[in-house]
Amino acid sequence: MPTTIEDRCQDAGMRMTEQRRIIARVLSTAKDHPDVEEVYRRASTIDDKISIATVYRTVRLFEEAGILERHDFRDGRARYEEVPDEHHDHLIDMRTGKVIEFRNEDIEKLQEFIAKDLGYKLVDHRLELYGIPLKDTK
Ligand SMILES: [Zn+2]
Repeated sequence: MPTTIEDRCQDAGMRMTEQRRIIARVLSTAKDHPDVEEVYRRASTIDDKISIATVYRTVRLFEEAGILERHDFRDGRARYEEVPDEHHDHLIDMRTGKVIEFRNEDIEKLQEFIAKDLGYKLVDHRLELYGIPLKDTK
């Protein structure tokens, strides 16, 4: 079974309340890079006593612990996903806001090459592609 946010919190020695567990589970099962309001909506269906302030605080806590990654996909909302075991990049459909994950070894190598060429060892990068479906451009 893959590592969950709950496991990572446990490993980080974080005190896990029931509400934190619910929020962690919502985030672990999300496949769509939700924002805080969406996490709140989903968590509320499990426990209607969870407040949006708690979700905000918890998400920030997870982020600061290096368990969650925050993204800005230019729609004015911070989006979150569990820090993945395997790196990937994102393509954002500008029509629908859908986020597509991909990984391309040529791009990975090229970025390392560019950094090296500039005198650096690459330690991290972010790549976001913004597009509209080809079928909509005809
Ligand atoms: Zn992703």
